[in-house]
Amino acid sequence: MLIFLDIDGVLIPDRRHETSSWQTDIMKFNSDCLNHFENVLRSYPNARVVISSSWREIFPFEVIPPLFSPDIATRIIGFTPFLNPKNIHQHKYLRHQEVLEYLRQNQAENSPWVAIDDIPEHYPPDAPVVAIDDYNGFDQSSAKVLSEYLT
Ligand SMILES: [Mg+2]
Repeated sequence: MLIFLDIDGVLIPDRRHETSSWQTDIMKFNSDCLNHFENVLRSYPNARVVISSSWREIFPFEVIPPLFSPDIATRIIGFTPFLNPKNIHQHKYLRHQEVLEYLRQNQAENSPWVAIDDIPEHYPPDAPVVAIDDYNGFDQSSAKVLSEYLT
């Protein structure tokens, strides 16, 4: 099972911006959100995580896994690919297309997957998406929904 994980609004809730220290914590996940997410993964050892966040436009992949706990970091396996800019305008659900392209490039078209995003509109309505409330980020109810997809 592949999990396509967004970061902003998921592991970094928007309420962080209400505190004055957020700029110094720019590369740190919220510990509550991270705990909820990682605890689900610990129950499903076969699940792997692909980062589908805009962070991949800013950071090299190597900086991402160390932001997770060591036992989970090894299960963060990549970024979704960048689509050809010439074709991007054709896609209404860009992030969904990036997921499909990742599956194609990795011969994983038949692999079950689920996306986690605070903007579920990045995906068509019938896609498997755990929609996150961006104010709170990944919380207990997100964990429950994700677990249902992974079971
Ligand atoms: Mg987001």
